[in-house]
Amino acid sequence: MEDREMHKATCAECGQECEVPFKPSGDRPVYCRECYRKRKPSRY
Ligand SMILES: [Zn+2]
Repeated sequence: MEDREMHKATCAECGQECEVPFKPSGDRPVYCRECYRKRKPSRY
């Protein structure tokens, strides 16, 4: 069962509107899938 909720957000990198599987808190930048993949997470 898919109960993943998508939230609309604006990518902090390219400025495009995107949807993220988590609720944007506002104190952290949100990235779309493409920009997220470009970024290398320092810790995961
Ligand atoms: Zn982006």
